Amino acid sequence: MAPSGDYNAKSTETQDVLLKLLTSDAPSFVPLSVFDDLRAAIKGRVYFKHDEGYEDLRKPTWNFQIQTYPGAIVVPKDAKDVSETIKWAGKHSIDLTIAGGRHTIHSTKDHRVTLDLTLLSAVVVDPSNSIAHVQGGARLGELDRACSVYGVAVPSGTNADTGVGGYTVGGGYGYLSRQKGMTVDNLLEVEAVLASGEIVIANRTQNSDLFWAIQGAGANFAVITRFTFRTFKIHSCVGGLQIYPPTHARALLEVLQHTMSPGPRPLSTSVLLTFAPPPGVAPEEARKPAAVLMPVYVGLGEEGDAGEQERKQARAVLEEQMEAVPEAVMTQVGDMDYWNGLQNLAEVAQAAGRWYEKALWIETLSSAVMDILVSQFTKAPLKGCTIALHPIGGAIGDLAPTSTAFPWRLKTGFWVLILSRVADDAEFAIARTWATETDALLRPYRAAAYVNEIGGAVGSQDGAKASVVGEVYYGENFGRLVQVKRKYDEGNFFRNNHNIVV
Ligand SMILES: Cc1cc2nc3c(=O)[nH]c(=O)nc-3n(C[C@H](O)[C@H](O)[C@H](O)COP(=O)(O)OP(=O)(O)OC[C@H]3O[C@@H](n4cnc5c(N)ncnc54)[C@H](O)[C@@H]3O)c2cc1C
Repeated sequence: MAPSGDYNAKSTETQDVLLKLLTSDAPSFVPLSVFDDLRAAIKGRVYFKHDEGYEDLRKPTWNFQIQTYPGAIVVPKDAKDVSETIKWAGKHSIDLTIAGGRHTIHSTKDHRVTLDLTLLSAVVVDPSNSIAHVQGGARLGELDRACSVYGVAVPSGTNADTGVGGYTVGGGYGYLSRQKGMTVDNLLEVEAVLASGEIVIANRTQNSDLFWAIQGAGANFAVITRFTFRTFKIHSCVGGLQIYPPTHARALLEVLQHTMSPGPRPLSTSVLLTFAPPPGVAPEEARKPAAVLMPVYVGLGEEGDAGEQERKQARAVLEEQMEAVPEAVMTQVGDMDYWNGLQNLAEVAQAAGRWYEKALWIETLSSAVMDILVSQFTKAPLKGCTIALHPIGGAIGDLAPTSTAFPWRLKTGFWVLILSRVADDAEFAIARTWATETDALLRPYRAAAYVNEIGGAVGSQDGAKASVVGEVYYGENFGRLVQVKRKYDEGNFFRNNHNIVV
């Protein structure tokens, strides 16, 4: 279709819109009038390139490396708006991306139409029933803030800016996961908008096949407009950083393996091989390689309840971890507010910027794995490079792999993140080489490829073939997921994700 006006004109009222349609990858001009039906049907707004507000909705919130320019951004006000947008996109063969927290490359794409869930951000905590209702576009920080009022928490991740939507539908790991499992293990119900536009409720008894699929592969099946989670009472919390010279990296990894495999469930102590202090805290020249122990303890329950003994034992192991390696150059560990302290603790190592990342789950920090980690950190080419190890196992491994679409039920293990915050394209290329090499060396030890892995094991920034992605990420559940996909989204309307190709 030919443009009927100047595409670069300021007023969107006089121009057509450059879009990529499902039938073709080449962008073509689509008459602006295509949006008339949609605008009439929804209470929310449609933003085009020159509209005020477009730039804020388009911009990545965390990884500035991802710069995309959707043809239009639709901001719905409720589930009905989501439904109308999906029906409209289906009718006009428009490739719709779904934006929650906008942390991944799947949420916005050049010349596509983005459905941005920003306004669906309400969180309602019901303390008498120990549940929280969360709209599909809320951020983890908003969930934590609402829960803090009642002294409770949903097991959730460590970056406030992450979308509850994308995070949950991939599984969801956080400091409470070793005690209470993945976030999807604590999901009780969803309100979901299907590829047909139908709004449905799914839980263990209603649309249970859909509910199962949403618990780990959800982006493939629907837009979730409301999650209902179980909440837990926070009893006590300890966290902080203990910093060592890099020569102590191996000793800290040994402590981690020894005390966290399996280790007390209230502990989520991590190790970071990084440069300290973090950027912005000290001049660049003062930032030096460091091995950092990040002791983390969260006690759940009420004073004097049956969990007292477990909490006490866990705190004793935490002390052991902190005393195991002498010669720390700095220790800042103590009682913490769970919501405003612990949940923000990792922020120093993951501030918004330009990032390149790789990640994988491994079962054991064997001697060979530790050798690779230490040697690769020694070769870290930039001060923005970090290798982080977060413990998994515990309650994550209590369920069978087939109990949810998320299949990786490891009894012990570590989430290894190879992260680089870079300044420019030249540094990006350097970081990519280092991360790719580190990932390749660790690959023989990979026990799981987690959907929420930043950067991902395949695909993502490196653009792997869609056909292999599903099998890598969903393991033994892939076959059943294909069946559920056929039932709910045979035309693969929800394709901008770690896609299950039918
Ligand atoms: C700094 C940082 C820290 C992180 N920490 C953790 C962590 O501690 N634990 C952890 O498990 N993960 C963590 N992650 C990974 C994160 O959970 C995933 O990247 C997740 O996909 C981000 O979701 P989003 O909504 O922010 O991103 P988006 O890019 O908006 O969405 C990601 C995917 O989910 C889909 N989606 C989004 N919302 C919905 C919805 N409501 N319904 C259906 N589909 C939806 C999108 O279509 C897209 O395919 C972290 C990521 C970053 C960048």
